[in-house]
Amino acid sequence: MRLPLSEPHLRQFQAFQAFTSQHITPHAGAWDRAQYIPESLISLLGQHGYLGANVPEQSVGQGWDSLTYGLLHEAIGAGCSSVRSLLTVHGMACHATARWATRSVREQVLPRLACGDLIGAFALSEATAGSDAQNVQLMATRQDNHYLLNGTKQWITFGQRADVFVVFGRMQQGHTAFLVDRDTPGLSIEPLSDLLGTRASMLARLHFQDARVPAEHLLGREGFGHHYVLTSTLDWGRFSVAWGSVGILQAALDTVLEHTRTREQYGSPLASHQLVQRHLTEMAVKLHSARLLCYQAALSRDRRDPQHLTDTLLAKYQASNFAAEAAHTAVHLLGAKGCLPDFPAERLWRDAKVAEIIEGTPEILQMQIARQLQDGYGQGIFEGAL
Ligand SMILES: Cc1cc2nc3c(=O)[nH]c(=O)nc-3n(C[C@H](O)[C@H](O)[C@H](O)COP(=O)(O)OP(=O)(O)OC[C@H]3O[C@@H](n4cnc5c(N)ncnc54)[C@H](O)[C@@H]3O)c2cc1C
Repeated sequence: MRLPLSEPHLRQFQAFQAFTSQHITPHAGAWDRAQYIPESLISLLGQHGYLGANVPEQSVGQGWDSLTYGLLHEAIGAGCSSVRSLLTVHGMACHATARWATRSVREQVLPRLACGDLIGAFALSEATAGSDAQNVQLMATRQDNHYLLNGTKQWITFGQRADVFVVFGRMQQGHTAFLVDRDTPGLSIEPLSDLLGTRASMLARLHFQDARVPAEHLLGREGFGHHYVLTSTLDWGRFSVAWGSVGILQAALDTVLEHTRTREQYGSPLASHQLVQRHLTEMAVKLHSARLLCYQAALSRDRRDPQHLTDTLLAKYQASNFAAEAAHTAVHLLGAKGCLPDFPAERLWRDAKVAEIIEGTPEILQMQIARQLQDGYGQGIFEGAL
C-alpha cells in the first residue's frame, strides 16, 4: 500500500525499516523465547531518538508529528511486538509526564526519558480493574508533602525493567495519577512470565505498601486521573498499538507471499491455487484498510481535529482485529511450518491476539465508538469535497 507520504516521511520510514531489519527482526524469535529484551537494544533505541519520539524538542526529544510516530510503530511492530510494546508504554509515560507533570518534575525527568536514560511504563490494571478502569482500588492518601499508595497493579508491560511508572489510584477527590520512581520505598516488583504473546515485554505486578510518593509527583490535579490523564494517555497507547498492528499485518503478508511462492503442492506453487489467492487478497485488503485508518487517525491528530480520539479508536479496533485475522491466515497457509517457532507466523498470531486485548478490548472499543456515533461522530466527513 503506497500512502501519500512526503519525501521526509518516506525517508524516515525507510530508516525505521532498515533499523528494524538490522537490529530487531533477526532476534525477535530468540527474545520471545527468552522472554527478554536486551539492554543493548534499549540503548540503541535511545541513541536513535526512538524513545523520545513524542517528547517535545524543548525537552530534548524528537517532537515528531503523529504520522512519523505511527510509521515508527509500524516498522518496529513488523519486527517484534514486544519491542513495539516498549515503545507503546514508554511513549505513554513520556506523554503523561510532558502534559501533566509539575514543571520541576518535567524538567528533571523528561530529557532522561527522551534519551532512554529512564524507561517509563503505565500502571492502570488491577485484579478488579480491567476494562472497567473506573474501578481501580489502589488507595492514595495525602500526608504532609507526600502521598501514601497502597494496592497492587498487574500486567504492567516492562514493569520488570521500567524506572518510572504512571500509576492510577483512588482518592476522595476522585481518580488521581502519579509518576512513581521504581526505587520508591514501599514499592516491590514481581515479575510475570509465560504469557501467550508479546512474551518479551517483561511484565510485572507492582505491590504498593505505604509507598511514599513526593507530592510534586502528582500528575495533573487530585481527581484529574480518569478524565484527563488517563484519557489522553490511553489515546497514545491505542494509536501505537493500531500502527503496530499494521506492522503485524505487513509481516504476516510478507511471510505468506514468500512461502506460497516457493512451496509447491499438486505440481505448482501454492500462490497459483485460486483458493489460496483468495486468502492473499483478503490479507492485502485488510492491510491496506488498516493502514488507511491509521493514516486518517494520524492526520486528524496533527490537525487537532476534535474527532481524532474516535479516529484512533476506529484505527485500533479495526487494525488489531485485522492483524489477528491475518496472522491466523498466515499460520494456516504455512501449514505445519506455521506451527513451528522457526517461522514468524505463530509469533505474529500470538502477538496479534494480545494487540486485540490491550488498550481496550474489541467490545469496549465497540461501545465507545457507538457512543461517539450517537454524539455525531462521522457527520460532515465529506466536508470540503465537491
Ligand atoms: C500482554 C499484556 C500486556 C498488558 N500491559 C498492560 C500495561 O502495561 N498496563 C496496564 O495497566 N495494563 C496492561 N494490560 C492489561 C490490559 O489492559 C487488560 O488485560 C485489558 O484492559 C482487559 O482487561 P481484563 O484483562 O481485566 O479483561 P476484562 O475486563 O475482565 O474483560 C474480559 C472480557 O470481557 C469483555 N467485557 C468486559 N466488559 C464488558 C462489557 N461491559 N460488555 C461486553 N464485554 C465486556 C472484554 O471485552 C473481554 O473480552 C496488559 C495485558 C496483557 C495481556
